[in-house]
Amino acid sequence: MPTTGRFAPSPSGPLHFGSLVAALASYCQARSQQGQWLLRIEDVDTPRVVGGSDQQILRDLEAFGFTWDGPVLYQSDQFEQYRFYLEQLFARGDCYGCECSRRSLREQGARSGPLGQIYPGNCRRKNLAPAGHSIRLNTAAANTIEFVDQVYGKFELNLPESVGDFVLRRADNIFAYHLAVVVDDELQGVDEIVRGADLLENTCLHIFLQQKLGFANPRYMHIPLVNNAQGVKLSKQTGANPIDHRHASRQLVAALSHLGQSPDVDLQHASPEEVLGWATTNWQPGSIPALQAASVETFGA
Ligand code: GLU
Repeated sequence: MPTTGRFAPSPSGPLHFGSLVAALASYCQARSQQGQWLLRIEDVDTPRVVGGSDQQILRDLEAFGFTWDGPVLYQSDQFEQYRFYLEQLFARGDCYGCECSRRSLREQGARSGPLGQIYPGNCRRKNLAPAGHSIRLNTAAANTIEFVDQVYGKFELNLPESVGDFVLRRADNIFAYHLAVVVDDELQGVDEIVRGADLLENTCLHIFLQQKLGFANPRYMHIPLVNNAQGVKLSKQTGANPIDHRHASRQLVAALSHLGQSPDVDLQHASPEEVLGWATTNWQPGSIPALQAASVETFGA
């Protein structure tokens, strides 16, 4: 069966070179297997959405020669689905209401793990109603979750010790990224996920949630992050330059080099569609370096 991949940007600003690398890697991995490539706008965290940036992202992708399959899925249209699966978990006793705030946990001396505060399970047995409280997934029985990443190899995380019960819906009723991404990937039939290496730990949470919901586990490929010249990960928060339509092919060629591919420098004078055609035909996922991050020359205004 042909594979289904996806690119899932958050509309909190325009795409930068790091997001271009993620788009390109997921595109090449899907298309080189004659698979589908879907586009999903991850606007579940509505207060962080920057108006109009979804349209900007679509324009950027088009200018860089990308074509996706089917309609764009918006997480803001999926709330009924997230509610449905959350209710299932609640009915089975897998999650519970929690009244702890970050501050109260800090004051109680909660330890920190790779994903922030480790939740000590204070509210597990309080039987709090979901309304007005955050909802957490009980990880007591999770133990170590492991998976084999196609770039980074075997990766594992002990959920109860390193993360604790994580939030699936915040007290302000906003569904967590973890729930949204797992539900959407299942409902969209995504069977291979390609995304940045900053999400390696998160993948263990997603696998546990997939198990709890009876979903299939997709294959995973995490790709090295892009740092700026100061060694800081490119992100909207750190003010990364938006990708620049005037140099689309040059940036695609640089993104391919970051991914360990060997594009001919002359390719930067070809059209973006030609660069993507070359990239798909010559795609070597085995050459992607398993680095935490690498610095590259950044582009843009
Ligand atoms: N929306 C996430 C981001 O923009 C990507 C999540 C994913 O690919 O699973 O960083």
